[in-house]
Amino acid sequence: MAAPRQLALFQMQDYRQHKKYLDGVFKTKAELIHDLHAEGRTKVYQVLSFGGGTQSSHLLEMHFRGEIHYDYIIFSDTGAEPEFIHEQVWWWQHRQLQVGNKTPFLITHHNSMERGLEEMLMRYIMTDYQRFQMPVYCNSVNEDGEIKAGGMLPRQCTVDFKIVPVKQMARQMILKEHGLGPKQMIPSNVGIIMDIGFSYDEIRRINTYQSPQYDYIKLAYPLVEANETTEASIQFLEHNGFPTRRSRCYLCPFNCAADRDIGMDWEEIIESEPFSFVKACWFDAKLREVQATGSKIMRSIPYLHYSRRPLSEVFAKEYMILNDAYKGTLSQWEEEWKNYIHAKWGEGKDEQS
Ligand code: SF4
Repeated sequence: MAAPRQLALFQMQDYRQHKKYLDGVFKTKAELIHDLHAEGRTKVYQVLSFGGGTQSSHLLEMHFRGEIHYDYIIFSDTGAEPEFIHEQVWWWQHRQLQVGNKTPFLITHHNSMERGLEEMLMRYIMTDYQRFQMPVYCNSVNEDGEIKAGGMLPRQCTVDFKIVPVKQMARQMILKEHGLGPKQMIPSNVGIIMDIGFSYDEIRRINTYQSPQYDYIKLAYPLVEANETTEASIQFLEHNGFPTRRSRCYLCPFNCAADRDIGMDWEEIIESEPFSFVKACWFDAKLREVQATGSKIMRSIPYLHYSRRPLSEVFAKEYMILNDAYKGTLSQWEEEWKNYIHAKWGEGKDEQS
């Protein structure tokens, strides 16, 4: 029999005791299916929002083993994932072939900004586009001109560049299955459950089970329901010899120091994808440059690094070497983006979507 303390810890790790579940912030998949049926939505599709990282890979493997059903597996490319995440996605596509699984495995992206977060940032920097969707660290200047550390902008990019494109793709595929066009309404008997790979230790990230965009789409969190931790998913992947790198954009401000035992960090980007690090430094500096012109609604001073110092200063030695090594590639990249943004968005007038 478990000791009282072990029992208490075990009980703490039960989603059914968690305030978010008790307050109805999220529901179990069985409860969601029951609700959809009660609304007359008896044909329920199940979709995996695949991120290419550890937890959704855990769910994907469970699907391959017949332990969880999916009608569609959908990966949304944020346009800023490191190359090794794309390699991991290809790895899983290859594994699907090997195990003979036939579930459609689709890749999608943001509706209007197909090149993802880099396109959003370039549009912000090069036109009068005002929406800024990344969780950057901010400093603010008070009336006396003193600079104070501020908070962080909301992390809207996850929703806009990962979650919504998956919903849109699932919707399109289901409409097509029913012989309907992309602008038509979903049949009234259809409901969709989209699985998100949050773990129990990430329960704070759950805000709702209801898609704000589509009332027939519900969000489920199967790993939370299984009281699984991130570490348990990593162990599962390691035990099976599967890839274990965590999905994250190369310039994600949540990147942190190398003392983290999981996930990416700036040192990892410098090591494995030096040009992406140079690009991150470029974005970091340009965001403050454009903010200083006063043409943006954003009043805070943005930083990608949590120290609220320029990335090129935090990693000064590495930046000096790499910026020099990639000088030509960087100016080519910048020129190519200038042409693309100019042709597509012009000055950006009246286009804020
Ligand atoms: S990994 Fe970071 S930058 Fe990329 S979508 Fe998520 S929060 Fe945004």
